Amino acid sequence: MLFDLTEVLSGENKVIQKEIPLELNAVTYQREEFQVVAKTPVSLTVTHVGKKEVLIEAAVDVTVRIPCDRCLADVDRRFHLSISRGFDLQVEEETRRRELDECGFLDGYKLDVDLMIFHEIILNWPMKILCREDCKGICRKCGKNLNEGACDCDMTELDPRMAKIFDIFNNSR
Ligand SMILES: [Zn+2]
Ligand SMILES: [Zn+2]
Repeated sequence: MLFDLTEVLSGENKVIQKEIPLELNAVTYQREEFQVVAKTPVSLTVTHVGKKEVLIEAAVDVTVRIPCDRCLADVDRRFHLSISRGFDLQVEEETRRRELDECGFLDGYKLDVDLMIFHEIILNWPMKILCREDCKGICRKCGKNLNEGACDCDMTELDPRMAKIFDIFNNSR
């Protein structure tokens, strides 16, 4: 949703507080799409500090469904986001975009709330997603989820030279 900053700029020290519905339904990260399974409205506070300088504060909880790195089971990862950033709207937009790396969520006096939250999720994306600390993963041979129990696969992969020795041993018996 776009939030118009014109109103807050109409007076010095003006503060606008609003609950804004989050429209974001999916997050695309590294060419993969992840569903947003739960979200709260964005609690947004915009303060006109003065001279077209605004402070944008936002808080929101977003839950994204991400597969476990090891067993691919769905993991609902909750992002508890709290954003606080100042912008000087007097500075040319091009300069701002270059210097502040704001990723285009502030377009003129329009704040793209969804895009801002999206970028915050990406910034907080976990290095590793595990369904549980000791996830056993998937068997590389039969594909069974090993958290549900062991499979019957023989995982002792023999060195081919060792295998030959075993053959000789077996044949000589
Ligand atoms: Zn797992
Ligand atoms: Zn197996």
